[in-house]
Amino acid sequence: MNIDAIKKEIIEYSKLSYERNLVFSAGGNISCKKDGRFFITASGRSLRNLTKDDVLEINENGSVVGESHGLKPSKEAHLHLCVYRLKPEVKSVIHVHPINIVAFTVAGWTFPLNTAASGQKIRETTFAQFALPGSQDLVLNVEKAIKLASDNVQLVIMERHGILSYGEDLYSCFNLAELLEETAKVSFEADILRDAKQRRLI
Ligand SMILES: [Zn+2]
Repeated sequence: MNIDAIKKEIIEYSKLSYERNLVFSAGGNISCKKDGRFFITASGRSLRNLTKDDVLEINENGSVVGESHGLKPSKEAHLHLCVYRLKPEVKSVIHVHPINIVAFTVAGWTFPLNTAASGQKIRETTFAQFALPGSQDLVLNVEKAIKLASDNVQLVIMERHGILSYGEDLYSCFNLAELLEETAKVSFEADILRDAKQRRLI
């Protein structure tokens, strides 16, 4: 196993997530599973400029394996491990805080998957009720949401928080996360246009 290549890919998609406004500040975390081993970004480190030391190997209990470089695994490590436990075929998990998706949940609304791309490539998401970031309650809420969803769902929308995107590799997880955020943004813009049209008719 080429651990350097795994870490390099996690760093690449972390930077991309930050640059594409899927995550802000020191939020978000990314992991991969390879040959039964788990690799995840460290707690408190912004995804914008990670180094290889900022990607830690953890075991299935969330404890660091090998050198920690004085860092702790992401506080959402148990969220990632929960997905891997429920979905043995999953090899990668991205957790980010896309602003339009989060805004919809803060407002207490949902948005339809009615763009051409989201209708074809997402079709369905599942929703996890709010619990504090890093808490066991959040893990339980996400576990419940995944168990309630159909097998092909790969996106969990977490109330007032963000999303989990999971799948066979980081490439597909990132594409799904970015597409869901694009769909939320289009819905937001469409709502503004509908309101503007109503005002014009008055
Ligand atoms: Zn988060």
